[in-house]
Amino acid sequence: DDEMIHCAGCGVKLQLDDPGKLGYVPEQALLKEPVICQRCYRIKHYNDASAITLNQDDFLRLLGHIGSTKSLVVNIVDIFDFEGSMISGLARFVGGNPVLLVVNKIDLLPKVTNLNRIVNWVQKQAKQLGLKIVDVVLCSAKRNLGFDRVIEAIGEHRDGCDVYVVGATNVGKSMLINRLIADFSDLEAELTTSQYPGTTLDIVKIPLDDGKSIIDTPGIVYKHRLTELVPKRDLARIMPDRTIKPLVFQLNEQQTLFFGGLARFDFVKGERQSFTCYIASGLKVHRTKLERADELYAEHLGELLTPPRKEDAGELPPLTKHAISIPKGGKHDVLISGLGWIKLNSEAGAQLVVHAPKGVKVIARDALI
Ligand code: GDP
Repeated sequence: DDEMIHCAGCGVKLQLDDPGKLGYVPEQALLKEPVICQRCYRIKHYNDASAITLNQDDFLRLLGHIGSTKSLVVNIVDIFDFEGSMISGLARFVGGNPVLLVVNKIDLLPKVTNLNRIVNWVQKQAKQLGLKIVDVVLCSAKRNLGFDRVIEAIGEHRDGCDVYVVGATNVGKSMLINRLIADFSDLEAELTTSQYPGTTLDIVKIPLDDGKSIIDTPGIVYKHRLTELVPKRDLARIMPDRTIKPLVFQLNEQQTLFFGGLARFDFVKGERQSFTCYIASGLKVHRTKLERADELYAEHLGELLTPPRKEDAGELPPLTKHAISIPKGGKHDVLISGLGWIKLNSEAGAQLVVHAPKGVKVIARDALI
């Protein structure tokens, strides 16, 4: 019976054998009406972030054709890890197509934040990265903020074309796509998936009224984000899920802050000043003298300095040092990708050394807030 073996959501042939492959449906789900595949189920109910992901090379290989289409590219980035979640080389890869930057998770920013300033900051950063963007929209998929503006901006800029939604993993793309689906289509009837030749990867198309589609793409995994390196069970400790409560520390030179056992911030040289940490509340900050820091780490990793847990400590790459010289004048942040950022409140400059697991992106930038 044909109705039994095809997904009512996307039309793919259903199978019970391989959860990693397209069309998988758990046996008990066959009892429900209508029968949909696990992927459609996830999309519909949003209960799982384990959507298909790719590394950047595979992503470019599979989706390099976007440059030769006429389309709008919607790039979702995470305000908590802006530089870490930007797609490198996006400008080249989209060809001449317009890019709409959707900046998600603004609910994390302290309430007093001036959002116009954030938009200006994002525009400036994007420009520095050589990316031409048609618009910046701030939103929170989780708290359903700014979503009308996302829809509006897509409508304004797509100019009768298809819309490709791209983003790194963990930026909230699934959540946003689900809101788009809820807004644009009658899922059961119309959602379609297409498959790339030679792979089991699929894309999800959300049909639009004019015969064009919104096309979801696999999330890109960036190993320079701490969120991709920590054990899954510690993820909730480093990813804030509500408005960040910044922590302020007055430090003298030769003092150190530990962020759990995941990163270490040495204030090597400079006048006494205050540092504001924008990190998840689940991550404890431990202050010590720089001269004691190595010993403390060696003795207390996985106990006082946690996460990681003791049994996981060996799984993380070893800490490596980043020497950072903050110049005099202007306000600056130090971003540790996936962990958060530290703002220097003085304009007096500072010599810093940041220790982070090998591979994690650590950069200085103009202050976000
Ligand atoms: P994807 O990997 O890009 O598809 O991201 P998901 O939609 O699976 O979301 C990744 C994580 O970010 C989840 O833990 C979400 O709860 C969280 N998240 C998504 N959107 C928001 C948001 O607007 N604000 C906050 N604070 N968290 C969000």
